[in-house]
Amino acid sequence: MNLTLEEIQNFKGKYPKQIWSLFFSEMWERFCFYGMRGMLVFFMISQLKFGDEQANLQYGATQAFVYAFTFVGGLFADKILGFRRSLFWGGILMIIGSLILAANPHDYFFLGISFTVVGTGFFKPNISTMVGKLYKPNDTRTDAGFSLFYAGINLGALLGGYLCIAIGKGEMFSHLIPESKRWNVAFGLAAIVMVVSLINFIFTQRSLGPIGLAPQKINKDGSFSPLEKWKEYGVYTLSLIFIPLIMIMVSVPQYTDYFMWTVGPLTLLYLFYEMTKVTAPERKKLWAALIFIIFSILFWGIYEQSGGSLSIFAANNLNKDLFGLDPNGVNNSGGAFFIIFLAPLVGLLWIWLSKKKLEPNTINKFGLGFIFLGLGYYILFGTKFFANLQGITSLNIFTIALLVITFGELCLSPIGLSIMTKLSTEKLQGMMMGMWFLASAYGQYVAGQIGAGLAKVKSGATNHDALITYTDGYKQLGLYALIAGVILILISPFVKKLMQGVK
Ligand code: GLN
Repeated sequence: MNLTLEEIQNFKGKYPKQIWSLFFSEMWERFCFYGMRGMLVFFMISQLKFGDEQANLQYGATQAFVYAFTFVGGLFADKILGFRRSLFWGGILMIIGSLILAANPHDYFFLGISFTVVGTGFFKPNISTMVGKLYKPNDTRTDAGFSLFYAGINLGALLGGYLCIAIGKGEMFSHLIPESKRWNVAFGLAAIVMVVSLINFIFTQRSLGPIGLAPQKINKDGSFSPLEKWKEYGVYTLSLIFIPLIMIMVSVPQYTDYFMWTVGPLTLLYLFYEMTKVTAPERKKLWAALIFIIFSILFWGIYEQSGGSLSIFAANNLNKDLFGLDPNGVNNSGGAFFIIFLAPLVGLLWIWLSKKKLEPNTINKFGLGFIFLGLGYYILFGTKFFANLQGITSLNIFTIALLVITFGELCLSPIGLSIMTKLSTEKLQGMMMGMWFLASAYGQYVAGQIGAGLAKVKSGATNHDALITYTDGYKQLGLYALIAGVILILISPFVKKLMQGVK
């Protein structure tokens, strides 16, 4: 099945058929990633005997590094490996990381995690870029495709996020797995699904035509030849060298601060350098992409309270009025649950609106994303009006807030992936996707700072005082999100000009 790019992109119907294979590879990868992520803090506290604060700081550091490495992964994919090989290499590193953790999570915890950090950096941005390649630059069905892909992401997140920790804690299959082996099996499961992801990708490759092949060198006579092999092996070696470095960096949280303060400016400088090499219209599009990237930092900074302050809020201030469900479980997986159902519907809504010429453009979708996020945070604030004297309030209302926030996420996150592929030049696709995720690294970082600020409830304060402090904080965040949404909508004519017809 040797398809040309033309044949792939000229598909009939709503979705290109290759999207399903990418959907499944990404679903299993996210299973592995979120499965592991969901175990980190719990494992560090219960097994490695870390204090709460240290465990949280180290969790934050791993998250920041994971997303920061997507930039490196994207960059090397553009310049040397191509998307397919990068994805493979990343997948193999993730498998090795999970196997190390499966073999001996207690002694080699940070080694295993560091393999996963670098592996995700090579896998995550590049599979997303390949989804974009299935579409012609101005195909109005692209956003819907990314919404579907996003459902796959969250299906994996939901399954992995639930199963791995449940096995590790002995809440599932405890009669089959001896107690001393539970964590090994839980991490082992992450390795198995990652193998499934790669096997699935091997079959997918056949239908991808030229998409994701390694870049080639242009010779003087205009012909193409493959890049030198040492460059490819150089990337592999370099990424292995990064692993012990990350182990050191993650172990001292302060290093993460230094890292974050240096990496961002350096990346920007590099982007500006690349911008000097493109044409003026291409440069304008890259500026537009940068605007989206910068706003997304604020979005994730607010959104990612879910892993931090909201999980403390869920543990201390919520009842179980939603079918008796555990509030932390709802906080962890409610968003993913809603997305699986809503993402395909929202995708179809975009296609339907575009047929009626009513589809909001990307910048307005981003604006809407912030507005939903803001409204969701106002609902979180509103939970305080349903609280009892002990400061315990309704999980139902909290879940409604999650639903509204999820709508916001769907207007921004899959759309962001889609627009990165459309605004980048051919040679900067991977790097720009990496930058999009790098913004998530900063989002996580900012989220940690905001969360830590909120957590500073004075000692001696009651649970009710804590409720007031948290909900007031959420009102503030809701306001910031609304302001950002309004700003985006106000600057939309200007950004539209920069985008030059890209929607
Ligand atoms: N939840 C999405 C994913 O895992 C988005 C992550 C992000 O960009 N922060 O892909």
